[in-house]
Amino acid sequence: MDKLYADVIVDISQGKLDRTFQYEIPDELYHEIKIGSRVRIPFGKGQREITGYVTGISANPKVEESRIKKILGQSVQGVAVESKLIALAEWISTNYGSTMNQALKTVLPVKEKKKQKENRFLTLNFSRSEAEEFLEVCERKHYKAKARLVQALLMQPMLTYSEAIHTWKISGTVIKGLEDQKVITVERERIYRSPVLAEQQGGQKKILNAEQERIFLAVCKEWETSVPRPVLLHGVTGSGKTEVYMELIQKVLEEGKQVIVLIPEIALTYQTVKRFSKRFGSCVSFLHSRLSAGEKYDQFEQAKKGEISIVVGPRSALFTPFPDLGLIIIDEEHEPSYKSEKTPCYHAREVAIERGRMENAKIVMGSATPSVESYEKGKSGEYFLQTLSCRYENRALPKVYTIDMKQELKEGNRSIFSVLLKEKMEERLHRKEQVILFLNRRGYTGFISCRSCGHVMKCPHCDVSLTSHKNGQLICHYCGYSIPDVKNCPVCGSPYIGGFRAGTQQIEEQVQKFFPQARILRMDADTTRKKEDHEKILSAFAKGEADILVGTQMIVKGHDFPKVTLVGVLAADLSLNGTDYMAGERTFQLLTQAVGRAGRGCLPGEAVIQTYQPDHYSVQAAAAQDYEAFYEKEIGYRILMGYPPAKAMAMIRASCENQELLEQGIGYCRKYIEKIYKRQDLILVGPAPESVAKVQDLYRMVLYMRHSDRKILVKITELLEQYIQINKGFDKIHIQFDFI
Ligand code: ADP
Ligand code: ZN
Ligand code: ZN
Repeated sequence: MDKLYADVIVDISQGKLDRTFQYEIPDELYHEIKIGSRVRIPFGKGQREITGYVTGISANPKVEESRIKKILGQSVQGVAVESKLIALAEWISTNYGSTMNQALKTVLPVKEKKKQKENRFLTLNFSRSEAEEFLEVCERKHYKAKARLVQALLMQPMLTYSEAIHTWKISGTVIKGLEDQKVITVERERIYRSPVLAEQQGGQKKILNAEQERIFLAVCKEWETSVPRPVLLHGVTGSGKTEVYMELIQKVLEEGKQVIVLIPEIALTYQTVKRFSKRFGSCVSFLHSRLSAGEKYDQFEQAKKGEISIVVGPRSALFTPFPDLGLIIIDEEHEPSYKSEKTPCYHAREVAIERGRMENAKIVMGSATPSVESYEKGKSGEYFLQTLSCRYENRALPKVYTIDMKQELKEGNRSIFSVLLKEKMEERLHRKEQVILFLNRRGYTGFISCRSCGHVMKCPHCDVSLTSHKNGQLICHYCGYSIPDVKNCPVCGSPYIGGFRAGTQQIEEQVQKFFPQARILRMDADTTRKKEDHEKILSAFAKGEADILVGTQMIVKGHDFPKVTLVGVLAADLSLNGTDYMAGERTFQLLTQAVGRAGRGCLPGEAVIQTYQPDHYSVQAAAAQDYEAFYEKEIGYRILMGYPPAKAMAMIRASCENQELLEQGIGYCRKYIEKIYKRQDLILVGPAPESVAKVQDLYRMVLYMRHSDRKILVKITELLEQYIQINKGFDKIHIQFDFI
C-alpha cells in the first residue's frame, strides 16, 4: 500500500484557507479519511493536539517524508457542518474547474477576526462615595482624562466605549488603566448584526386552495420515496407557488430541520421579507449581497447554533451552515443571477442539488418560466414536475396585444409609443389605475451614433457603446470612462449625431410630454444606486404616489401591484439580438414576467408588446402566455444546434493585456485539446473575441467546447489546467473555466 498524505486546514478564516499542512494518513485510517474529514493532528512545536479538516489527498509528499507527521485519528463528534461544506467545495472545484482554495472561499463561512463588532460598555466599579474620593485624587494629581471619565460616569450610569472615546475624548490606554485599577468595569457584549425584523410574530398562514393542496400532497408523497427527486414547480405568475413553498417549509421545520430559500437578489424586497416573517416569525433570517462579510458571518454563526432555522437570500445563502439541512427552495430557478460570474463559476441550482444529495435535503425549484434545461429534466422524469395552471382565485391572465413597430413607422408614427399603447395609457390615467412601462435593455440606453456615416461612440478601453447622460457626459458602464457629449461626428464631422434608441430617461421625458399631468417614477440602475432606493421607489409606487413606473428588468420581477392594469413593453426584441444561444429564452422569460405584472389584483390586466419582430416564437409564445409552445420550439433549436441541454457546454475564457500573446495562448489551448481528445464528437468553437472584447485594458477571448457528456468536458479542463500550469507561456494570461 502506497503512503497517502492529506492536506489539512487548521483554521477556517479568511486568508488562512490556503495554508494547509500535510500529514500522513496512518494505515488504519487509509479507507476512512476523505476530503472533508475532521481529523486530530499534532500541531506546532509542542505537538499540541488540535482538529483540522482534510481538503485534499495525494500520494506526493510536499516536503521531506521524515518531516511529515501522522494524523492521530478522526474527530469523533459527529460530522461537523464544515466537513460537509468542504466535501461540497471538492465537488465544486472538480465540476467547475477551479482550485480547491477558490472553492473553499466560496462555501465556507469565513470569519474576519478583526471586524467582529463588539459593543463594550463602561460602568463604575466603585461605589459613589469611593468614586468621588477617587475623583478628588485625580484632580489633585492633574490626571485630567481619568477625572473626566469618572465624572462622566458619576453623571450617567453607563457609557459605550465609543462614547467614551469620541464624546469624552478619553484614550484607550486611560480606559485600560482604570479597568486595571478596578475603578471601572468594561463589559463586552457580542452584538449579532442581524437584519432580521425584530420580534416578528409569525403564525399567519393561508389555507391552500385545491390545486395548491394537490401539489403539496404530491410533493409530500415524493418525499416519502427512498431517493426523492428534485421537485420542479411550474406555475404561472400569481398561482401561489410561494404559498406552496411555505407549506412545505412548515413541514420540514416540524421535523426539526432547517431550510434555505434562494431567491434572485432583485426579488428580496420588503414585501418578501414581510411575507416570510409573518408566517415564520423570528426564526427566519435574510441575507443579501450588500451585507458586510461580518454581518454574513454572524448570521452563519446563528444558523450553526440553531438560533434561526430559515434563511432567505440570493445565491450565496446556499452555503448557510445549517447542521441538519432539510430543504432547499430555489424560487425563479431560471434566473441568470443563480450563476456565479466569478471563479468558481458555479450554478446555484446544480450545487443545491449536490448539497441536497450529500446531506439528504430535499430540493424544490419553482418558476413561471422554467429554464429549458430544468423543464427538459422535468419531462424526462429526472425531476418531479408539477404544474399550477391557474392564478389564485382564477384571476385572469392579462390580455396581450402585439404591435409591429415597423408597421407603425410606415403609417407615419415616429414616436416610441404605438397608437394603441398611448390610447390605453390615457385610459388608465383617466380611470386612476397604474401603468408599468418596461424597457428591455439598459445597454442600449442613449447609445450615440452618427446617422451620416454610422460611427458609434465607444469606450476606448472596453469596446462597448458609451451612454449619454443628462449631465452632458458620455459614460462607459463597464469602467466609468467619460467624455463630454459630442456635437459633431468625430469621424465625418456631420452634425447628425445623437441618441439612436430611447433609454428609460428619455421614455420618462416622452411620457411627461404626452401626459403632463401624469406622476412618473423611474427605476433603473441610475436611480437605484443606494441601498434603500429600490425599496423607496417600489413602495412609493405601491402606495399610489405615481401613475406610471418606467424601468428596466428590475421592475418586472416578483412585485405585486394590485392597481397595475396595463404593462407596456417597449422594444421587446432588443434582447433577441444578444449574441448567445439563450437570447430567445431570456426574451421569453422577460416578456412573460413583464406581462404577468398586469392584473394581479381584482382589476383585469392588459399588456401591449411593441416589437420589430412580431413573428419570433419567443414574442408570440410570451404574448399567448404559452410556455409549452415556447419550450417545444426552443428545445428543437437546441437539439438542432447542439446547445444545452442537448449537449453540455464549457467555455475557456482567457484575458491578457497583450492581444498577440492572448491569441497565441488560447490558440495553444485549442491545439492541446485537439491533441488529447481525437474523437469527432467534441465540438470546438473559436477562439473568438468575447462579446465585450476588452475590459479595463484587458483583451478577452473565449473558446467553446460542446459534448453530450459533461464528464468528458470536466476531464479535458482538468488536463488543460495542468498543461497551463506547467507552461511558462501562460504566466501572463488569466484563464477561467465556465461550464454552462
Ligand atoms: P407566485 O409565487 O406563484 O407568483 P404568490 O404565492 O405570490 O404566487 O401568490 C399570488 C397572490 O395570491 C399573493 O398575493 C398570495 O398571497 C395570494 N394567494 C395565493 N394562494 C393563496 C391562498 N391559498 N390563500 C390566500 N391567498 C393566496
Ligand atoms: Zn459620422
Ligand atoms: Zn470602459
